[in-house]
Amino acid sequence: MENLTKRAASDLIASKYAIALTGAGISTESGLRDFRGPQGIWTTDREAEARAYERYERFLRDPKSYWEEMSGAEGTYGAFYRRVREAEPNPGHYALAELERLGLIKCVITQNIDGLHEKAGSKNVVHYHGSVDKLRCASCGSRFGFDEISLEELPPRCKCGGAIKYDVVHFKEPIPSDVMEWAEDEALKCDLMLMCGTSAVVYPFATLPRMLRLRAKTSAKIIEVNAEPTPLTHENISDYLIQGKTGELLPAMVEAAKALLEVQKPP
Ligand SMILES: [Zn+2]
Repeated sequence: MENLTKRAASDLIASKYAIALTGAGISTESGLRDFRGPQGIWTTDREAEARAYERYERFLRDPKSYWEEMSGAEGTYGAFYRRVREAEPNPGHYALAELERLGLIKCVITQNIDGLHEKAGSKNVVHYHGSVDKLRCASCGSRFGFDEISLEELPPRCKCGGAIKYDVVHFKEPIPSDVMEWAEDEALKCDLMLMCGTSAVVYPFATLPRMLRLRAKTSAKIIEVNAEPTPLTHENISDYLIQGKTGELLPAMVEAAKALLEVQKPP
């Protein structure tokens, strides 16, 4: 394992434009449950899962009732979002922020809605599935902070007249086009993709490493840091998997990279 973290550090240093992709696995160490693991949010509450599946359609059909459900006292989502907002980053998040400071990764594309990358100090973050910290106009895509929008009248409306929803991308909701384009652009120009804590089974997010592999058959590196092998491992889309906890392996990678950079410094 130590050899592999060193190998990843050296690959990062050799790369010209590396990016990181992150999934639920990096946030479980911050006490946030994943959705589909054995203790996952959906695994343990099928009714909540069924409601979540209908949420986007509900918004389209009746945005007022969507808002009542989202902000109501009984709304599992109100409580869930509060927990998410109170979570703190873990060493895995701090390690990625440090890699960005060192210039070794250029951005983080995350599936997570928790905002923990920014809390840890990452600057260039693409929220592929939206963020709990924001609201978004469903018509023009403008983003708002919660303090900018009054919830006195539901649904809140944008200047353009469109109904405003949570920025979080619900089931069956398309990925916002600006985010989709940004993520694809990063995936197409990078020469190293560090996949952290993602099982790479949720689409279209999982197309990003596949796009890179198709474009750069042998030259680009795809490195996985994950608790378990994934379809990317099995299909040889990734070059190698470093198996274990992101909260331990990513900090080790930072240390290895710093040691290598130190060695490379001219005397
Ligand atoms: Zn709008």
